[in-house]
Amino acid sequence: MDIGKNVFVDGIVQGVGFRPFIWKIAHQYSLKGKVYNSSKGVDIFIEGTEYDIEQFLNTLKNDAPPLSKINNVIVQDEPYMGYNNFIIAESKVEEGDTSIISPDVTVCEDCLEDIFDESNSRYLYPFTNCTNCGPRFSIIKDLPYDRPLTSMEPFKMCPHCQKEYDNPADRRFHAQPNGCPICGPQLFVYNRDGAEMSISWHDAWIENITDEKIIALKGIGGFHLACDALSGKATKELRVRKGREKKPFALMVKDLQWVNQYCEISEGERELLESKERPIVLLRVKKEFPTKEYISPDIDTIGVMLPYSPLHYLLFHYVNTPIVLTSANYSNKPMVCENKTALEKLRMYADIFIIHNRDIVNRCDDSVVFHVNNQNIVIRPGRGFAPVNWSVESKNDILACGSDLKNTFALTHGDKLTISQYIGDLEDPDTEISYEKSIQQSLDFYKVTPKLITHDLHPDFHSTRWAEQYISNEDIELKAIQHHFAHCAAGYFEHQLSGKALGFAFDGTGYGSDGTIWGGEVFHFDLVNFERVFHFKSIPLPGGEKAIREPLRFLVAALHEYKLLDQYKKKCTKDIRSKIEVYEQIIAFDMNTPLTSSCGRIFDAVSCLLNLCSRQTFDGEAAMKLESCAYKSYEEKSSLPFIIDKNEINFRDLFDAILTLQNENVVSSIIAARFINTIVEVIYTCSEKLIERFGKIPLVFSGGVFQNRMLLEKMYAHKKYKNYKIYLSSFPNDTGIALGQAVIGLKHLNVKG
Ligand code: ZN
Ligand code: FE
Repeated sequence: MDIGKNVFVDGIVQGVGFRPFIWKIAHQYSLKGKVYNSSKGVDIFIEGTEYDIEQFLNTLKNDAPPLSKINNVIVQDEPYMGYNNFIIAESKVEEGDTSIISPDVTVCEDCLEDIFDESNSRYLYPFTNCTNCGPRFSIIKDLPYDRPLTSMEPFKMCPHCQKEYDNPADRRFHAQPNGCPICGPQLFVYNRDGAEMSISWHDAWIENITDEKIIALKGIGGFHLACDALSGKATKELRVRKGREKKPFALMVKDLQWVNQYCEISEGERELLESKERPIVLLRVKKEFPTKEYISPDIDTIGVMLPYSPLHYLLFHYVNTPIVLTSANYSNKPMVCENKTALEKLRMYADIFIIHNRDIVNRCDDSVVFHVNNQNIVIRPGRGFAPVNWSVESKNDILACGSDLKNTFALTHGDKLTISQYIGDLEDPDTEISYEKSIQQSLDFYKVTPKLITHDLHPDFHSTRWAEQYISNEDIELKAIQHHFAHCAAGYFEHQLSGKALGFAFDGTGYGSDGTIWGGEVFHFDLVNFERVFHFKSIPLPGGEKAIREPLRFLVAALHEYKLLDQYKKKCTKDIRSKIEVYEQIIAFDMNTPLTSSCGRIFDAVSCLLNLCSRQTFDGEAAMKLESCAYKSYEEKSSLPFIIDKNEINFRDLFDAILTLQNENVVSSIIAARFINTIVEVIYTCSEKLIERFGKIPLVFSGGVFQNRMLLEKMYAHKKYKNYKIYLSSFPNDTGIALGQAVIGLKHLNVKG
């Protein structure tokens, strides 16, 4: 006897080929009924024998499409209606419900097969995709995700593609970016003068990469500059043309063969490299290669990614060499997305342009991630990850503006919390424009009217001013949130903690509640408020912002504070001594010398003291060089002295000890390793004292300093590690600030009721 059932499935089940899959297995088991997308998931009505329905449910659970992730399958009895076929019905989305936008997805195995099959109509076609893969976020203009609302709109499908698009049994059923060499996007080659060339794109690629030239290449989320990573001439030239002194370039490699030879790869790192998000993964270099000094000078890690779009696979099909693939931007502007801008602005960097005619609607940089202790730590959430979504219980619309540096912003809408893609540094006017545009677009996408806007406590942040201006004509509550409180709240939320916790926010810079600059903070906190229970001793930062670029300034200030400067001066050249005297004057007259308790600055000062970095050409350079140096003495067990005086962590003895070790000619790598061990000791000493006071509550770690992998590894390897419940934020740098601001905002509205 035939019976009826309703099956409701939720999780990641939309835009991933789930309905065609259901259609296929319903036919396989001769079931009748219908399937459609609802606002919460996928709804299925089926009729058939009990046995067939059972088989159907087993297959549904075990063979679901690769990109889907089933959270729940709820099966209920349903009256028998006597359906006479099985159909994919119109989606039912209720008013007020929001859907989420899928990130761009790496090309799938089936599409790769099509591309490399000579008999296939998509043979060597660089824009091949299906419901299981292809661009999403980067081409979406508005929701619902439907072809007319994407940048595929100008491409009218040929009869063959249309047939695939309309056939529920086809892998390309409702694949919005569907296309083929006849009807889809195409590649074009332009020279530096902006003239189109008659050469095929692959001949241009082969010729230029072999000739050690630099190629501007339009990808999924923006333009890249590419060159042969093994060519000293090309990599050096790229550095010169970009005026980029030391900041490492990312590489793309065909497969793991080259990487296995030159980098250390753990199982977790390999999985991350091969994951469907295909981020740039930071790997430790185990063996020098000839162009290393141009790709990652003085730092022993490199960023590597595997191909993610069909075009990338084809690049390696034509020329198999690791390539540099770096975001194409000019003078710290956002990555270039438009063809016209590229041809105008990138001609000083690129010898040739390989460009396509599908618009990039939403700029999306490559994501940057590293792996430690079974956790992926996101340095830059971009293509493949963004927009990042979480489920939340509350139903309040909130906009969180994020931080000014490494900005992302966040929205809560319905039961979702969404973090934007990496926007960049808002100090740059073009980045600020793109920030405002992206916020407006997201408010429109998700139909959000914010009730509350949260922003950083810093009164001079561009994001703060933007928020103040935005609410001026509307009835919206504004709430400023302390930077490190937001850092800790992000980690707290990600790990779904409750009750009170201890937060270690070891960071570069953040505006403190007392008007000084914070960054070496230990909090007793929850999502409602925080108490600053320990902090690094505050020291003047001579020259403010300038001191961040020039670590010598803060080193002088710290040694001056600790009355160790005379000792240091004796080791310095005349040149440095005269600089030191200038900084002493700045401190003595208190000219632009805000106080800071920053942990990041202590790393910079030690890096400078060890002669590793006296001037930073990019953010984090001094700390990264210190880490690379320390790795050479990884097994070093000792640490350096420090004092905790009431609630202040004082490093006088640490600097004194380093100066003494230097007099004894102890090598820098040992001192650097002992310094990192000391920070771990600081963490456990504080924890011990606080657990005694507050009981055994969770420890949350966030802030830019926790991008230091050696510090994390040493922390996890420490004998006291197992005594504590340790939770590290997966977004430790300022890209995580928006998440913290959003969850504190949600809590605030909940408490207010
Ligand atoms: Zn595919
Ligand atoms: Fe920060």
